[in-house]
Amino acid sequence: MSLVNMSKLLKEAEDNNYGVGAFSVANMEMVLGAIKAAEELKSPIILQVAQVRLPYSPLSVFGPLMIAAAKESKVPVAVHLDHGLDIETVKQALELGFTSVMIDASHLTINENIQMVQKVKEFADKYGADVEAEVGQLAGSEDGSVDHEMLYSDPDEVEKLYQNTHLNAIALSIGNAHGLYKNEPKLNFEILEEARKRVPIPLVLHGGSGISDDDFRKCIKGGIRKLNVATATFMSVEGEVREYCKLDKKDYFTMSARMVQGAYKNVSRHIEVFQSDNRI
Ligand SMILES: [Zn+2]
Repeated sequence: MSLVNMSKLLKEAEDNNYGVGAFSVANMEMVLGAIKAAEELKSPIILQVAQVRLPYSPLSVFGPLMIAAAKESKVPVAVHLDHGLDIETVKQALELGFTSVMIDASHLTINENIQMVQKVKEFADKYGADVEAEVGQLAGSEDGSVDHEMLYSDPDEVEKLYQNTHLNAIALSIGNAHGLYKNEPKLNFEILEEARKRVPIPLVLHGGSGISDDDFRKCIKGGIRKLNVATATFMSVEGEVREYCKLDKKDYFTMSARMVQGAYKNVSRHIEVFQSDNRI
């Protein structure tokens, strides 16, 4: 099918009560594995890369690869910049053809967050792209470099962000965390329920690696439409490579195929949990 806007995928998910997986990718093998899973299961997906990962997967090289793969795909694929931290990187992603960007100014005050989102929204509108932002703060950070204190999203701030920016999706902090959970996550569904009443746009759950299948389903019922999964896919790919290393006979291309398989396995599993399969 093609490269599509995230908001289109999330609207269809809202109308039919399922979630769309936003899968972090870092190399060609992961892109191929994620798209293979989506095609086999007839599911829309979002491919994303976070700004903190760009030293490993440079945007100018990897971004066009993600977009090319989305265009070639038999299912609709949105290409998203996850946790954009500055305007320059956001602009670069938009110029490359990313169909959505997240600007993460959640560590600032709500008014500063709003100002940042307004700026990004202005650029994104020129490209016909969507904008996601976050209210509250998740424990941990995208690359594990910082261990933020968790700060629940305040529904008043969620509403204020929407009213002042008319952005396309809002990520919530309801007890979810980046990276691996130290303890079993306890999600606060009351915040989700309240946030959903306040804004008419799709809500996003980051930190999907370690959330139980039941909690994923409850989140989707509660109005979460985009579910970010990163660590679990990286671990699945790494696990496949570890298994490959045990083989007596090794060659690069077998290893490459195992990396594709690692991403494929984790993405397939989550597509089924998010109930986005057989939607195309
Ligand atoms: Zn995140």
